[in-house]
Amino acid sequence: FDQLDGYIWFDGEIIPWNEAKVHVLNHGLHYASAVFEGERAYDGEIFKLTEHTQRLHESARILGFTIPYSVEEIDEACRQLLAKQGMKDVYVRPIAWRGSESMGVSAQNNRVHLAIAIWEWPSYFDPEQKLKGIRLDIAEYRRPDPRTAPSKSKAAGLYMICTLSKHAAEAKGYADAMMLDWRGQVAEATGANIFFVKGDKLLTPTPDCFLNGITRQTIIEIANRRGIKVEERAIMPEELEGFDESFICGTAAEVTPVAEIGPYTFTPGEMTRALMDAYAAEVRPSLRAAAE
Ligand code: PMP
Repeated sequence: FDQLDGYIWFDGEIIPWNEAKVHVLNHGLHYASAVFEGERAYDGEIFKLTEHTQRLHESARILGFTIPYSVEEIDEACRQLLAKQGMKDVYVRPIAWRGSESMGVSAQNNRVHLAIAIWEWPSYFDPEQKLKGIRLDIAEYRRPDPRTAPSKSKAAGLYMICTLSKHAAEAKGYADAMMLDWRGQVAEATGANIFFVKGDKLLTPTPDCFLNGITRQTIIEIANRRGIKVEERAIMPEELEGFDESFICGTAAEVTPVAEIGPYTFTPGEMTRALMDAYAAEVRPSLRAAAE
């Protein structure tokens, strides 16, 4: 992935993709002092860009560092890079990390860096599987108690258990894993939030120890506009038996129907399909304008 054509925005400059390098002794690599974002552009416009940039700033603040560029400057950098790459439908990945001025757990004075990359990521899951509904394992690792980890930060370190869970699921032939939280309640997938459908209402876990995703919030807004009832509450895994449909949602995953979670099966139905279509229209400026 480090030898592609294109450009990277790196500490204020746009440089060729394969020249965007860091030293091996950077704090972000050794001690996970890194935070990142995942955004998507549709028709050349990044969906909810400022919300993502604000979350990036907040993620860094939670880890105790300040990104040396304002929200406005980062928004502008994302737009400039998008224009330079000349692509319309892409994934955007800003990342900020502590540099290599000193080694050791403490890094009070290490410089904070920011880089932004853009690439084409058409579908997060196999498109054929996605239409039928993907299969999720139930992960062994649990989302930690917010007193154990800074769970509101989109911090690189928190993805360690996500990669472990996703790899374990893939080894068993699943597309992804649903993670429980420290209390044993349903939390989310390894890179997306989760929803269920029961009758004509939506259910989703309260995001008190994992990200309240921007896609999740968009789905709730769409549901509210359409008069669909949304219940945010603690959900126990045994309850999945009584739910009709399920889908996961996130910037990369968009709205992806789920057909299986461990022993529980679901049939992607009208509600999931309607929300997939509504989300696809919401994110794309041309379709959003037509719907208004
Ligand atoms: N949870 C996790 C662990 C994620 O990585 C993501 C993707 N950023 C989400 C939820 C969904 O967040 P969003 O909708 O803001 O992309």
